[in-house]
Amino acid sequence: MHDLVIYARNTFGIAYPNGNEKEDVMKVIRPSVFLVGETKIVEQGLQGYLDHIGVPDWKTDAPSDAEKLCEVMGRLCYKSFEPGLNPNVTKVREGNRPYLQNVISVGHGSVLEHGYLNFIFADVSRVFTHELVRHRQGVGISQESLRYVRLESLSASIPTCIQENEVGMALFCKTMEQLEDVQRELADIYGIRDMKDFAVKKKLTSAFRRVAPIGLATNIGWSCNFRAIRHVIEMRTEPVAEEEIRLVFGQVFEIIRGRYPNIFGDYETEDVDGLPWVKTAHRKV
Ligand SMILES: Cc1cc2nc3c(=O)[nH]c(=O)nc-3n(C[C@H](O)[C@H](O)[C@H](O)COP(=O)(O)OP(=O)(O)OC[C@H]3O[C@@H](n4cnc5c(N)ncnc54)[C@H](O)[C@@H]3O)c2cc1C
Repeated sequence: MHDLVIYARNTFGIAYPNGNEKEDVMKVIRPSVFLVGETKIVEQGLQGYLDHIGVPDWKTDAPSDAEKLCEVMGRLCYKSFEPGLNPNVTKVREGNRPYLQNVISVGHGSVLEHGYLNFIFADVSRVFTHELVRHRQGVGISQESLRYVRLESLSASIPTCIQENEVGMALFCKTMEQLEDVQRELADIYGIRDMKDFAVKKKLTSAFRRVAPIGLATNIGWSCNFRAIRHVIEMRTEPVAEEEIRLVFGQVFEIIRGRYPNIFGDYETEDVDGLPWVKTAHRKV
């Protein structure tokens, strides 16, 4: 189900499907997820704050800086670092996991906005990126520009339902080839390869992309806070979501569930058509 094929002509040196011997090539690959950054605590500053409020020895068992920071920001609200620091508080919840799981169960999702993750999604389609950018809250986005990056060769993920039909698959690949030829012909007609003026090249590159397929593979940088990523994982791994975005957010979940176990400890997964459906009783905190 989830082996999305990347069609890439003249790039990888692998035979074209259906035994075609010509120079066209095809590579079986999946869109890739890279976690490239995460929240880091400035220990000196945090210790300064703990000294300042009178709990210099406060410690936690958080497995990551991001989870520790969320706990600190949450405890700050009620001064619940230790009993008596706030005279109204006689008992505090000990430990990072119980603390964060309580935050999640009571729906104080804003506390989770302090932890940030940075991803690069590589070889995803513009179908995927169009869907991804609909998530507006708590995210940062940098998308490969097809105004600047000229399309010399096209590659695209091929959904399973297309792969399952040989005739449909051949038509899909042929169309890709034709669209790639269109890009090359336009480059010839307008002489863009020998052009020096970058402003004109940019204008032409932007014009050429209008006849590129929405399925072509591209790259996007995506940063988000824990609250936002929980919501997106819940929505985009549901079986009703599109195959590629389910695949990508299934990978995202696999990467982060063990790295931040106390933020994602309430999640369960169910396999549906070979992809994980990530579920929780505490949706959209
Ligand atoms: C299976 C599926 C099918 C879809 N089909 C379509 C479709 O056919 N057409 C289409 O246009 N879209 C479609 N979408 C996209 C969908 O409508 C949302 O735009 C997308 O999922 C973003 O989620 P979100 O609205 O929760 O926004 P996010 O940006 O992820 O926001 C998170 C939460 O913040 C709050 N919020 C965000 N912005 C505002 C605001 N401006 N005002 C008040 N509260 C806000 C909301 O509570 C929101 O749920 C589909 C999504 C899925 C998962």
